[in-house]
Amino acid sequence: MLRFNRKKLALGGATAAVTIVGLIACGGSSALTADTIYVNAKVLTVDAQDSVSEAFAVRDGKFLAVGTRAEIEKRASQDTKVMDLGGRTVVPGLNDGHLHGVGGGPGIDLSRTRTIADVLAQISAAVKKASPGEILQSNSDWHEAQLKEVRMPTIAELDAVAPNNPLVLHRGGLTAMLNTAAFARWNIVAGTVSPPGGLIGKDATGNLNGLLINNARSLMSLPPLASFGAGDLLQMQSKLNSLGITTVRVPGMFTGTTVPAVYPLIRALQQEGKLTVRYQLLLNSMAPVSTVGEVQSIMASAKLAQGLGDEWVRIWGVKTSVDGGFEGGFMSKAYSEPYGKGGTFFGLPLVTAPAYEAVSREWAKNGYRLAVHVVGDAALDQVLDAWEKIDKEQPGTVKGWTIEHAFVVRPEQLDRVKALGLVLSVQAHLHVAAPVLSSYWGHVRAEHVTPVRMFLDKGFKLAAGTDSGNMPVNPFWAMYHFITRATINDGVYGASERATRKEVLRMFTINNAELNTEGNSKGSIEAGKLADFVVLSDDYLSVPEAAIENLRAEATYVGGRQVYRDLASSVPKQ
Ligand SMILES: [Zn+2]
Repeated sequence: MLRFNRKKLALGGATAAVTIVGLIACGGSSALTADTIYVNAKVLTVDAQDSVSEAFAVRDGKFLAVGTRAEIEKRASQDTKVMDLGGRTVVPGLNDGHLHGVGGGPGIDLSRTRTIADVLAQISAAVKKASPGEILQSNSDWHEAQLKEVRMPTIAELDAVAPNNPLVLHRGGLTAMLNTAAFARWNIVAGTVSPPGGLIGKDATGNLNGLLINNARSLMSLPPLASFGAGDLLQMQSKLNSLGITTVRVPGMFTGTTVPAVYPLIRALQQEGKLTVRYQLLLNSMAPVSTVGEVQSIMASAKLAQGLGDEWVRIWGVKTSVDGGFEGGFMSKAYSEPYGKGGTFFGLPLVTAPAYEAVSREWAKNGYRLAVHVVGDAALDQVLDAWEKIDKEQPGTVKGWTIEHAFVVRPEQLDRVKALGLVLSVQAHLHVAAPVLSSYWGHVRAEHVTPVRMFLDKGFKLAAGTDSGNMPVNPFWAMYHFITRATINDGVYGASERATRKEVLRMFTINNAELNTEGNSKGSIEAGKLADFVVLSDDYLSVPEAAIENLRAEATYVGGRQVYRDLASSVPKQ
């Protein structure tokens, strides 16, 4: 029989349980007792059967047991805290599989702008604070598709608010928009030749239109943005925890700098016990890598071996790139007019096929696992050609390597992806960018951007993320998009590509854990796994579809520790 006399933490209660050393469960059970039990919940465990439970127990930062309230109460002793969750839904901690930062950060913040006038007002405010001639930059956490006008500001508009300061608006990870003073600063004129893999934007009359795309951005020499410190990292973690995120996978660039630069900072916080997010880190360089020499120099300077780390911080591998983004994804079919330039523009391959093969082989030779940024189907062909050769030389080498994005894919390519054992890592760019993708690539192609249903029906376990830093950080927005295919500004795109709520929850939890080769230690609420979980504001499985994007974390736990609690919530404080 089990005897305990615990202080119950009712809703709204905020006191710790009374600790009485003493009786432990007896009566034939030698089972361990819990530090804390959580009862009266709807627990979406995301186990193999997608079981729903009502309670679970946590001990030493791990789930001890999951089951009915009666079963879980058997795990309580007098020392055990009891948390009544008031019937709320609990899910495993969310894992953002592709995150570069949380937006904001250094530079002019355009993330909340909704009109061209908003953009200009933000710039104008920054100009007033700047010294004459000072180079001004925005952060990259915005896209013109979020603006009512669904276009970039013009050079003339930028010049009107920033006549004397070189101004660079970073948009997404791969595009910059400049004003006249910026073009003058770096002597870029209409006749300037772009480096390979880049594009200097021109209007119909051949004048500069303000855009530098992909490698053309190397024509600028930008001062580094304010450095990213421990305080910034703590702030970022708080933001992520407030969104229910407990693990992030960082594909190379991170908060405007590189993973090796931030790594010591993360480790220092770990030493101080201040990590509240778990990190999977990928090496990368600022520019696309196209030679074996560059690979060797990244390895030598980073000194971060594949797999190095622990349950908090681990080196996942390396991020590589083969093509551009929205206006540079390398396609087998030309862009839509006028972007297709009379059927001649297919996007921007960033490296040649032989160069990519050599770079991949060099990383593999040194034991690294690769991820690759692929937007267009022609870029995917290039990657598959290279990786098939490497896999033939050393069978099994590329298993678990990852295609990031995969916006435009031909169905037959998926057989090759599958045969190699690759993983697809998807994000919800379409949610934000739909109208511009439609104008670049044509509406039919845009409707099937990130064809999640096609991937799932082919049997892929998709790992999902937000691409935050370039896209909004809120994972519930991305989940909402995958479930509905709704976009912010342009209705539903490709309703036949919808995924179910359960599939999408797996994409943001267990599938990412498996991508990180952590499927046995996290990603679901099962005995023995790390106790990373989130109490949601509403029932993910039954709220109306339109309400999914408004779901919130009311409390977030990492390793059994409450790292976030909505102050307005009646979820008990730990
Ligand atoms: Zn990215």
